[in-house]
Amino acid sequence: MSYQVLARKYRPNSFDEVIGQDHVVQVIKNSIEQERVHQAFLFSGTRGVGKTTIARLLAKCLNCMSSDSPTSQPCNKCESSISIQEGKSIDFLEIDAASRTGVEHMRELLSSVHTSPSVSRFKIFLIDEVHMLSKGSFNALLKTLEEPPSHVIFLMATTDPEKVPKTVISRCLQLNLKTVSRNELQEHFKKICEKEGIKSDDESLSLIAKSAEGSVRDGLTLLDQAIAHGNGKLVADDVKKLLGTIDDSLIHELLDSITDGRKEDAFKTLNDIEKLNPDYEVLLKDLISNIHEVSLHQFLEDSNKEAIANIASKMDEQYCQLIYEIGINAFQKIHTHPSPREAVEMCLLRMLAFQPVQNINTGEVKTQKKKD
Ligand SMILES: [Zn+2]
Repeated sequence: MSYQVLARKYRPNSFDEVIGQDHVVQVIKNSIEQERVHQAFLFSGTRGVGKTTIARLLAKCLNCMSSDSPTSQPCNKCESSISIQEGKSIDFLEIDAASRTGVEHMRELLSSVHTSPSVSRFKIFLIDEVHMLSKGSFNALLKTLEEPPSHVIFLMATTDPEKVPKTVISRCLQLNLKTVSRNELQEHFKKICEKEGIKSDDESLSLIAKSAEGSVRDGLTLLDQAIAHGNGKLVADDVKKLLGTIDDSLIHELLDSITDGRKEDAFKTLNDIEKLNPDYEVLLKDLISNIHEVSLHQFLEDSNKEAIANIASKMDEQYCQLIYEIGINAFQKIHTHPSPREAVEMCLLRMLAFQPVQNINTGEVKTQKKKD
């Protein structure tokens, strides 16, 4: 049997399996149970959080033939449920607006609106990336949305709701999906590893959850890669290599040198990091996130990391804010920079150039905190 990628294998078949979108799921369940189903839904949220997955589940709920009316618990056994799941239902049409933006496509699609569903309860249209539609297409769609036949339901998904005309949005029940928290992702990946019989550890899972940046799909793709990399198991060192993650201890060393104004040491650490073949964008992100931790610790004393507490105690608070800005600035521009390594070097040089300690010789105020 061919290998099925995790993102596909673990695509939810019921609302209970949806991760991190309880608020949206609850609204949908309520509306079905109270028999107050809207005729148009707009799912918005960043990529990979489950917009089309939830839309497909809703389609199954609406057309499941296990009961006389829509159900919040589709059976996954009737012809209608199965055909939607397999993408073969003749009454459930999926359209990718990104590839069919033109008004002629929309007219063709809408021409079938008035004919009744062939075998199911509703004729359901899922328009993905709906914000890509042309103005003409939106106008044609709006006309139908104003007076939709009772057997028609529109499900729309978008990563960019700002680009959807207000007139269209006002006809929809808009549901905003959240980015999924790191903890929820980590738990989810842990369960999947258990089901797959893959040996894993918290560090690996946490690194993958962090890199997924709130997207279940991206996380599962990384998990697939990490499992392949680790030859069927997850090993933190391999995962770090795969993700280009640098050990926190090296970042702390770097930040400590910057704080003390030890230029040579800072660049020596950067050379050590280079040997690990890092992703410089990730490195910069990690550096910024550590400066953030230092800054928080200066105000809240909430870090349980010794290195962070140590750096926080000796770094000037204003300097900390300044290097955070320098880091963010470098991060914003890293893609326009011809060499990512140079971008990081310039960022470090800039941080070092503004080091308050150096100003002693010039007679300017020394703002560094005393070590006591
Ligand atoms: Zn069913």
